[in-house]
Amino acid sequence: MPETYEAKYLAGRRALVTGGSRGIGRAAALALAGAGAHVAVNCAGRADAARETAEACRALGVQAMALQGDVSDPAAAAALVEAVCREWGGIDILVNNAGITRDGLLMRMDEEDFDAVLATNLKGAFHCMKAACRPMMKARYGRIVNMSSIVGLRGNAGQANYAASKAGLIGLSKSAAKELAGRGITVNCVAPGFIDTDMTAVLPDKVKEQLRGQIPMGRLGSAGDVAAAVLFFAGEGAGYITGQVLCVDGGMAV
Ligand code: NDP
Repeated sequence: MPETYEAKYLAGRRALVTGGSRGIGRAAALALAGAGAHVAVNCAGRADAARETAEACRALGVQAMALQGDVSDPAAAAALVEAVCREWGGIDILVNNAGITRDGLLMRMDEEDFDAVLATNLKGAFHCMKAACRPMMKARYGRIVNMSSIVGLRGNAGQANYAASKAGLIGLSKSAAKELAGRGITVNCVAPGFIDTDMTAVLPDKVKEQLRGQIPMGRLGSAGDVAAAVLFFAGEGAGYITGQVLCVDGGMAV
């Protein structure tokens, strides 16, 4: 574990990680907990996985809770933030990590698949940010980290909906960064490359090999690699950094 985990430099901070039940979100939840933050672990449907992640956070000595809720539903997203504020008296860190894919070539892509991906990946972040920025503004402190993708910077054949959602997150983050900077709130994006999680496990081996060939570091990233960037943006040390996009991709987008 990096030394910073031991430093507990986020001691007592209150965090909400959407899509924290699995993959990158789970690793981010654990990294934040390792640094001393209390963590609310959100999931869409896999409540057991969210509870298990919350339990693993508690084992690191912090408070944690599992919160089921679909971030694409504005009321559910607001309820997540409300639950954190009710339980812990406020929210300091919001990690908008929940995301889905529904890949397909543009000419064959159903409007429903386009809308579903935008609703979760982009609007879900918007709903959560809208709900969280009020208490953060009141407290004059906040760290918002949005999970984009290098696909949002470069595009990807077969992922028009996903790329649009991830590019949209960058615009959303930069605008919010400008709006909220004066209130001590930073808004940044992490843009992972090809990370070994359930999301990429479904890809055919041939596609995985092709992708691996595009990574200068020659390996897939781990969820922990991405969590380290989340931890950085969430930390005190990144307090003068806002509106940025940090690629965690083994050099893929260079
Ligand atoms: P996983 O598929 O492993 O996990 C997705 C997570 O999002 C789960 O916790 C899931 O909850 C949750 N989720 C999905 N839809 C919703 C919703 N509507 N409301 C609340 N939670 C939801 O994904 P990864 O860990 O791989 O990806 C995490 C993020 O990182 C995503 O935004 C993804 O786009 C992004 N990313 C991933 C890359 C990769 O290579 N893996 C590359 C670049 C970006 P549940 O467990 O209940 O289903």
